[in-house]
Amino acid sequence: MELLKERILRDGRAAEGGVLKVDSFLNHQIDISLLQEIGKEFRRRFPQPEINKILTIEASGIGIAAIAAQYFGNADVVFAKKTRSKNLDGELYTAPVRSYTRGEMFEVQVARRYLTPGDHVLVIDDFLAHGQALKGLMEIIRQSGAHLVGCGIVIEKGFQSGGRQLREQGVNLQSLAIVDSISDGVVSFREEA
Ligand code: 5GP
Repeated sequence: MELLKERILRDGRAAEGGVLKVDSFLNHQIDISLLQEIGKEFRRRFPQPEINKILTIEASGIGIAAIAAQYFGNADVVFAKKTRSKNLDGELYTAPVRSYTRGEMFEVQVARRYLTPGDHVLVIDDFLAHGQALKGLMEIIRQSGAHLVGCGIVIEKGFQSGGRQLREQGVNLQSLAIVDSISDGVVSFREEA
């Protein structure tokens, strides 16, 4: 997606450990008109009419999924929570995830009543690195008996292993920009994204 790649080149910042910071338009301040274009592009890549639910993970996925849902006939958005709170009552699906940015393990959780066997689910997230977050969300979908239609990622880091592993497993994974390298602060992209 050219618009997204241009924005990454303009405003993205390379940080330590292969981390790309996009706080000025995606992860802290949010550019809504860019998210609208991202939402339209996800719809173009996932035209399946049966998609009725978008699953994401707090916090950065929520805004992306909420805007994208408008292009999916106002599909319901469910976000997995990272901490157990009193608000999360009833039975839960849970899966362990290793946090890329903090390095620690946490549990993602979704209330059972929001994911059921009749659901056709698109998973959306901001970044794909080693695939831990997506694997956790896919495990929750598996537990629920819902149907996974595919995974939509805004920025995949192709130099980390998550994307390759998920594609090898046959997951319909669509990344709107694939960063192939970040070298001396210079970002380069894989052509086909
Ligand atoms: P994974 O679970 O695929 O290893 O990492 C994906 C998660 O880690 C995303 O939900 C995202 O929040 C975070 N993440 C991974 N790499 C980056 C990065 O380069 N920049 C930012 N801002 N977040 C990242």
